[in-house]
Amino acid sequence: MPPARKPANRQSSTRKPPTRLHYCKLEECEGICCSDGAFLLPEEERLIRRVVAKYPEHFRHLPKAYILDAEWEGNFGRKTAVYKYRYRNKPGHFANTRCAFAEQDGKCSLQTLAVSLGKQKWAFKPMGCWLFPLSADEKGLVPPPRTRREDPNNLGKDYPGFTTFTPCGEHSAGGKVWWIALKEEVAQYRAETGGE
Ligand code: SF4
Repeated sequence: MPPARKPANRQSSTRKPPTRLHYCKLEECEGICCSDGAFLLPEEERLIRRVVAKYPEHFRHLPKAYILDAEWEGNFGRKTAVYKYRYRNKPGHFANTRCAFAEQDGKCSLQTLAVSLGKQKWAFKPMGCWLFPLSADEKGLVPPPRTRREDPNNLGKDYPGFTTFTPCGEHSAGGKVWWIALKEEVAQYRAETGGE
């Protein structure tokens, strides 16, 4: 997924109507949030490299260069590689690609390994991945954008957003308020960072 491009609007439960979300259904969305791969922090790349080296059988599907230099809107970083994948249904401006770590059914192989080892399911996963459609900055959690205008990756008509175009990140009036829909993510973020 692209890194947040500009600070997203923060929401409080009193001042603005909150974003409401539906739960992810992987068999329907095919893991579209993994279509671009994931930008990684240096410590996340180190952890992933250690895990891949330790469990090569689990990661047989990875290409040799599974983490690459990448650029997004003038920001440079390290990112997981992607492979070609044709989605049954996707926003027109999304690529027909998938993160190299995605298995054929869309599950993240970093998560399936953690589960098979009896570890916390996100133990090996980049924070940006398990937080999605939440994000975080130096001040703490950033709620999912409610409108496409608030989408931090809305670059204009050629790329009108990312989070708000994904089934689990798109505001839906009939959904649950984000802090309930994402209570597991919020709790994990607080446990890891002590932040709000
Ligand atoms: S690392 Fe896992 S969750 Fe993150 S983009 Fe890749 S497959 Fe998706």
